[in-house]
Amino acid sequence: MQHQAKKRYGQNFLRDKNLLKKIVNESNIKDKDVIEVGPGQGALTSFLADQAKSVVCFEIDKSLKPILNPIELSYPNLKIIYEDFMDQDLTAFGDDLHVVANVPYYITTPIIFKLLETKQIKTASLMIQKEVCDRLVSKPGSKTYNSLSVVLQYFTNVYKMLDVKRHMFYPKPNVDSAVVRIEKRNTPFLSQEKEKIFLDIVKSAFKQKRKTLTNNWFEAYQIPKEDIHEFLISLQLDPNIRAEKITLEKYIEIAKVWPYDL
Ligand code: SAM
Repeated sequence: MQHQAKKRYGQNFLRDKNLLKKIVNESNIKDKDVIEVGPGQGALTSFLADQAKSVVCFEIDKSLKPILNPIELSYPNLKIIYEDFMDQDLTAFGDDLHVVANVPYYITTPIIFKLLETKQIKTASLMIQKEVCDRLVSKPGSKTYNSLSVVLQYFTNVYKMLDVKRHMFYPKPNVDSAVVRIEKRNTPFLSQEKEKIFLDIVKSAFKQKRKTLTNNWFEAYQIPKEDIHEFLISLQLDPNIRAEKITLEKYIEIAKVWPYDL
């Protein structure tokens, strides 16, 4: 069956069976409830259904139905819903959910936020742009370290599973990809109240990358710069430090003792 790939839906399909099997095997989904975003022509779907307890797929493109129908019929544990994933309330599908997807790149960040916000989702293995993956897993001092890296690493254990070259897809995209593995932490590092502070101060710290932390916090909260300097020194930090030099652990420590209004 011929299907014309649709650019507007981010359709870049996979077919290398070894790669698909590797992604599924390393996603640890045996006997688990799995959600797949965008099954496309079902390349990943049957490997998922072979291992998982159940697989629920969301596919926005109804014209893929004739290709996906036979796969759905051959797996009693597989259900394909032809709707936009971003509109879904996932609570109906279980409380221990695992997402596996070759993500449509135009909605990579919204998908990651939806996964973070949905309590029922415990892990995600996502094919995303290599550049985005590098940002998500990046560490202090690296050019790609930003507020999303800090926030994601706060809520999850995140690492790169594998690199995937662009020629593995058809049609071939303009960038290389990588599979990122995201595992939610069971216990939060901070209380709810301190967590709110943490999220706010991390976001404001990175607001303008060329500025020092002091300048960014001064602009965000109107705290006198001398006070911020003293505060940083009390935490054994250089008062002229930039946000990208500070570790997750240090941001957590800062949130715990943050003395100012937000
Ligand atoms: N899983 C297939 C594969 O690996 O070959 C297809 C991956 S392709 C990169 C992304 C898929 O997501 C496409 O089938 C596309 O139609 C679908 N898609 C795009 N936006 C979507 C959305 N908002 N909700 C659900 N599916 C979507």
